[in-house]
Amino acid sequence: MIESSAPTCAEQVCTVCGASGVRIWRPAQSWPDRLLCFTCACADQHKDIVEMAAEKSDQIGWLVPAVPDGEGSWWGYTSVPQAGVDAWHALPLASPASQEPKP
Ligand SMILES: [Zn+2]
Repeated sequence: MIESSAPTCAEQVCTVCGASGVRIWRPAQSWPDRLLCFTCACADQHKDIVEMAAEKSDQIGWLVPAVPDGEGSWWGYTSVPQAGVDAWHALPLASPASQEPKP
């Protein structure tokens, strides 16, 4: 068995702003040309960030959660195993560094 260096959910990086450690979306195609954090995904799909956050949907327009399959690709939206769903949902929507610390 070959050791895989494929990134985990938390290691994925937004190709627009470089954010990592956050939920990442991808276009729903077999080989996505970009990976997007919540903020960039909303901008990409012309969605309102506040509305999308309130909706609690895991799809943003044509973008779906990017859940790595551990082999250099991603699970199809309807075939993500529960562990992958859990790992993806465990990540914050936005980078903790960009959030105001609570007093
Ligand atoms: Zn981003």
